[in-house]
Amino acid sequence: MPGTDLLYLRDAYLRSFEATVLAIEGEGRRVALERSAFYPTGGGQPHDTGSIAHLPVVDVRKEGGEVWHTLGGDGPLPAVGDEVFGELDWDRRHALMRTHTALHVLCGVIWNQWGVPVTGGNMEPLSARMDFEFDPLPEGFGTKVEEQVNAELAAARPIAVSFLPRGAALADADLIRTKVNLIPESVTEIRVVDIVGLDKQADGGTHVHSTDEVGRIAVLKTESKGKGNKRIRLQVEDAR
Ligand SMILES: [Zn+2]
Repeated sequence: MPGTDLLYLRDAYLRSFEATVLAIEGEGRRVALERSAFYPTGGGQPHDTGSIAHLPVVDVRKEGGEVWHTLGGDGPLPAVGDEVFGELDWDRRHALMRTHTALHVLCGVIWNQWGVPVTGGNMEPLSARMDFEFDPLPEGFGTKVEEQVNAELAAARPIAVSFLPRGAALADADLIRTKVNLIPESVTEIRVVDIVGLDKQADGGTHVHSTDEVGRIAVLKTESKGKGNKRIRLQVEDAR
């Protein structure tokens, strides 16, 4: 199959689109399109929801080069070759964009301040957890990190998305800590999300244009998940 053009990689603000149906799996009510603005679960960011051809989109997965949308409801599926209209649940997607950007700001602050890398994480709309290699957590860490992240968010730093040839990405000192060298060699172009002056990562997720669009974060809890692994739980809120 020719593969799906991933519209969200270049325009995270695209809420609706038209596309031709590439393939159908009737059994699982799954539809692959030649282009899609729907984000498939991956990189810690959950999939989008919305509708395609007036049917609800309940799951989105990327398999090989294709994005497969699972459609709910009991209406008939479109046919291969049909032109369909897709529309995202924008409230959910925008909440995920704010949350994803907040997590990159958190990574940048923790790396710059404490030199500690992230070990894992997961997000839901407006809430998230992230694990870092602290051992132990510094005194007063939760309050300190919340203040610093909120100062960076309020600073309205622009977020630039670019595509670098693999060689250039590997040579970029700022990208080394995100382990660009572990990206499969078949990937010749690396997508880079740069919160200008704060945090630069190889990343496939969707982000807002400016950190002040996130609002603010509240650290809900910090907990130990073992030696060299400390978890931060946070929520994203509107700016005060
Ligand atoms: Zn990310």
